[in-house]
Amino acid sequence: MAKRLKYWGWGCEGDGLPARDREALLSTLSRGFGIHGHHTGDSSPPPIDEIPLPPPRLDPPAALASMCTQEPYERVLHSFGQSQPDSIRIFAGDFAHAPDVVAYPRGEADIAALMQWAGEARAALVPYGGGSSVVGGVTPDIGGEYNGVVTLDMSRMNRVLEVDTESRAARIQGGARGPELEAALKPRGVTLRHFPQSFQHSTLGGWIATRSGGHFATLYTHIDDLVESVRCVTPAGVMESRRLPGSGAGPSPDRLLIGSEGALGVITEAWVRVQGRVRHKAAAGFRFPDFLQAAGAVREVSQAGLFPANVRIVDGVELAVNGAGDGSFTLMVVSFESSDHPVDAWMDRAEQICLDHGGLPDADWRTDPGAHLKGTVGAWREAFIKMPYNREVLTPLGIISDTFESAITWDRFEAFYHAVREAAREAIREATGREGAVSCRFSHAYPDGPAPYFAFHCAADPDGMLDQWRTIKAMVSDAVIDNGGTITHHHAVGRDHQPWYEKQRPPLFGDVLARAKAHLDPKGILNPGVLVPHPRPGAVRKRPRR
Ligand SMILES: Cc1cc2nc3c(=O)[nH]c(=O)nc-3n(C[C@H](O)[C@H](O)[C@H](O)COP(=O)(O)OP(=O)(O)OC[C@H]3O[C@@H](n4cnc5c(N)ncnc54)[C@H](O)[C@@H]3O)c2cc1C
Repeated sequence: MAKRLKYWGWGCEGDGLPARDREALLSTLSRGFGIHGHHTGDSSPPPIDEIPLPPPRLDPPAALASMCTQEPYERVLHSFGQSQPDSIRIFAGDFAHAPDVVAYPRGEADIAALMQWAGEARAALVPYGGGSSVVGGVTPDIGGEYNGVVTLDMSRMNRVLEVDTESRAARIQGGARGPELEAALKPRGVTLRHFPQSFQHSTLGGWIATRSGGHFATLYTHIDDLVESVRCVTPAGVMESRRLPGSGAGPSPDRLLIGSEGALGVITEAWVRVQGRVRHKAAAGFRFPDFLQAAGAVREVSQAGLFPANVRIVDGVELAVNGAGDGSFTLMVVSFESSDHPVDAWMDRAEQICLDHGGLPDADWRTDPGAHLKGTVGAWREAFIKMPYNREVLTPLGIISDTFESAITWDRFEAFYHAVREAAREAIREATGREGAVSCRFSHAYPDGPAPYFAFHCAADPDGMLDQWRTIKAMVSDAVIDNGGTITHHHAVGRDHQPWYEKQRPPLFGDVLARAKAHLDPKGILNPGVLVPHPRPGAVRKRPRR
C-alpha cells in the first residue's frame, strides 16, 4: 500500500531522520553552537483524531461531491505547507484555518466547475501541487472575508501526455510530481532535468507557479527556461500560449503565468523543453580557506562561459551544522555534464580557476570519477538529502531552523553578504536574547551575480517561537531589500514575502498585476493574499474598475 504523506513535516509517514542522525544534529547544535532544545517530553505530533478542526463551513454541491472530501486527514494535510511558521503552528495544534473542502479535479472541466461554485459560494480556492511551499503559498489562512476555503489538489492530473522527441519537448499535466514525470520520460530517452531539492514531493504546476530553481546551478536553472508554452484555467476562461522555441511578439504570455502562484489561474499543463540523458560527467570538490575567496572563484568560473551543471559553495558553518566539515574551510562543488561529449576539458579549466583562487582539491577527480560521492563532498551531499527532515526534529524542541535566499549582482555582493549575515545574527539576538548559527552558501551562480542562500538556527522560547521567528524574518527580509537583493531567488513570494515583494516590484507593475488579477479572477477567489494585497472586506464582491 502507498505510504501516506505526513501532515507534520517532509515526506511520508515512517520517513525521517534515523535516531543516530537526530542525535548527531542535536549534539552538533548544542556542543558546536550552544543551541540547546527544550526537552518538553513527548514531541511526537498528535494523532489526527485529536486535532481540533472547526466544522466545515460549506459543503460541495452534489455535482462536485465525488471529487471532493472533508475527511479530517485531508483537511489537516492541506492546512499547511513546509515553512518554519507552518511547522511551529502544526506542533502547536493551530488548525483553525483548515480548508473546508479538499477537491481532486480530474480535468479542466472539473476545475472550471469548481471555480464556478467557489465564485457563487464566495469561497476562496487555493491551488495545491505538492504542498512543498516554504512561504505560506498553500496555507489557506485567509481571514474571515470568505465563506470558506476549497483547496484544489492537482495530484490526479499527473500524466505526461505527449513527447515530441524531434523538438525535444513534452506536454505534461500540472499535477505531475518530479519522480512521476521523470519515470514517464525515461523510456523515451529524455529528461526534464529540473531537480529542486523538493523534487520528490513537488509538481510541474507548482514549479511553474513559483518559478522554481533546480539543482543545476548555472544557465538553465529556473523552470522559466524550460517552459515552451503553458495552459491555464482561470475564472475568465482558458489561456494557452503558442508552442514556440522563441518569440519576440510582445510581452510573453508565459511570463504572466510563470510565477503566478495560484493567484491568476490553475496551470493544467505545459509543454516543457527536455534533453538527452546524461552520458558524460566530471565532478570535483575544492576547499577554500575563506568564503569570499571561494566566491571569487565562482565568479570567474561563471564568467568564463563554462556553464557548469553545478557550482556551489558552502561555508564552514553550514558544513559544521550538517556534520560535513569542522568549520575551518569553505567547500566548492563543481560539476559538468553532457549527453553528447566528454566534459573533462571544462573541468580542467574550472580546476585551474579554483587553484588560482587558493582552492585545494578535496579529492582527485581524474583518478577517481566517484570522488564526488566521497570525502567532504560526499558528506555534504548526504546531509543535503536528509536536511528536509531536520525541522520536524527541531521545532518541537523549540529550535528555529530556517533559510532565506536572494540574488545580487557581483559588484554589490560582498557588502550585501556582510550586511545580511550581520543582520541575521542581530535579528536572532534581538528576538531571542541568544546567539545563533548563521551560514551561507551559493545555491546558483550567474555571470552577473550569485544567489546567496542563508540558513539560521537558534533556540527560541517554547511559547514565543512564532513571534520570535516573525521578528527574525522581518529583520532579515528588510536587510535583503535594503541592500539591493531580491526577496526570493527561487522560494517564491507566497504570503510570507508579500510585504517585501511590494517593496521590490515597481509600483506601476503592482498596479498592472492587480488589474490582471481583477480581469482573470474578478471575484478574487484564487489564493487571496498571494502576489497582490489581500482584498479589503467587501472588495471580493466588486467588479474591476474599467
Ligand atoms: C525541503 C524543500 C526543499 C526545497 N527546495 C527547493 C529548490 O531547490 N528550489 C526551489 O525552487 N524551491 C524549493 N523548495 C520550495 C518548493 O518546493 C517550490 O516552491 C516548489 O516549486 C513548489 O511546488 P509544489 O508543487 O509543491 O507547489 P505547492 O507548494 O503546492 O504550491 C506552491 C504555490 O504554487 C501554487 N500552485 C501549485 N500548483 C499550481 C498549479 N497547478 N496552478 C497554479 N498554481 C499552482 C500554489 O497555489 C502556491 O501558491 C523547497 C521546499 C522544501 C520543503
